[in-house]
Amino acid sequence: MSTRPFRSIASVLIQRTIVLAVLCMVVVFLVQSWLLRSEHQTQFEAVMSDVANTSVPLLAAALWDIETQAVQAQLQFIAKKPAIGFARLQAAGGQVFEAGNSELAQQEAIRSITIYAPHGTQALGVLHLSGNPQYLWQGLQAEALRILLGYSALTASICALIAFMLKQLLQKPLSTVAGFASELTPHQLTTPLRLNRAPQPHSDEIDLLEQGVVKLQTALHEHIHNLDDLVDERTAQLEKLLEEIRHLSVTDGLTGCYNRRALQDKLPEEIERAQRYHRPLAVVFMDIDHFKQFNDQHGHQLGDEVLRSAAKHVASTLRQGVDWIARYGGEEFVLVLPETPLEAAIAIAHRLCDALPQHAVPNPRGGSVYISASFGVTAYRPGEDALALLSRADTLVYQAKSAGRQQVVAGA
Ligand code: GH3
Ligand code: MG
Ligand code: MG
Repeated sequence: MSTRPFRSIASVLIQRTIVLAVLCMVVVFLVQSWLLRSEHQTQFEAVMSDVANTSVPLLAAALWDIETQAVQAQLQFIAKKPAIGFARLQAAGGQVFEAGNSELAQQEAIRSITIYAPHGTQALGVLHLSGNPQYLWQGLQAEALRILLGYSALTASICALIAFMLKQLLQKPLSTVAGFASELTPHQLTTPLRLNRAPQPHSDEIDLLEQGVVKLQTALHEHIHNLDDLVDERTAQLEKLLEEIRHLSVTDGLTGCYNRRALQDKLPEEIERAQRYHRPLAVVFMDIDHFKQFNDQHGHQLGDEVLRSAAKHVASTLRQGVDWIARYGGEEFVLVLPETPLEAAIAIAHRLCDALPQHAVPNPRGGSVYISASFGVTAYRPGEDALALLSRADTLVYQAKSAGRQQVVAGA
């Protein structure tokens, strides 16, 4: 947002129109003054020639007849002419006649006419005429007033017209577009811009602006739409990745069954469920027999394959979606059997104890290899935690090992 002060286009245009009008007015006034001065010059010459042709002969006659009153009257007649301010007649006999504005008496005469006797060449006197400075000045004042009034009226009319037209044609639609754009939110991008202009036979810049705003809205809308799609796509990818990470974090990399961390998380949940609903819960601890020896004999790689195969085999014998298996350590697995009483768990352990040695794992070097395991079976005691339950099962396996391996030892 700009911090510059706001000034409407109309006020700027009006101000500039006024400045232009004043300049025009000054130029016109100067031209008119010059023309007026020339016109006055012509008029003055006409007055002079009139005085010379009509008044001077009469003055000559009056002087010749020594009719001082007639001389004075004629002089006053001459001084009354608007172009002449003051007239003085210096008679040859020494008499002086004056008429007109006495303030101009000191002024130098602009024209002096020698008056001759009516029928001779004898000079009877000299008529000195002074111009009336007010005459030109008043004319100029009247002209200035006329120009000022004319231009003021014209400028005021033009300004009013500009203001009205700008308001209708520019200010209103521009303000509407500015308001619309400033209040536009991503959710309103489909709201059309309405300028409510009167229909006109041609299109103009405001139409171009309106089309531009609509184009911008459409482009933004599409962009946001595409962004939404992209966000959805990326969210789905992220969720998939998260699911994979979640799966990896609870899965044992080698065997694909739950890892020890998952056991630590899920077993307490099973215990809580068993406790809340007073349901039985059994745990079978399975430890492969002499696995170190197996590795030494067949190599670690086949050992891995045996672990994978044994885990898969055991898992396949369990109830899908109810029982589950976790790799507790290297060759140790924990089978969690919800809704299973101790007797049923013992039966399952026996079945596995008998089946595992029959489970053939192909040996790449030829033939197959077989393994056995020892089992510790126990059931959840109300109030105990996962650690106590697992440690009892571990102790029972230890007993099975001590008793010769490949057997099941159970304890409540
Ligand atoms: P026991 O009958 O007393 O259980 O003897 P055991 O050899 O199975 O037990 P012990 O604890 O002495 O040794 C466990 C062996 O399991 C040691 C190790 O080489 C092997 N082992 C542990 N994890 C893995 C694994 O991921 N892959 C392979 N191939 N072997 C493993
Ligand atoms: Mg072990
Ligand atoms: Mg072992």
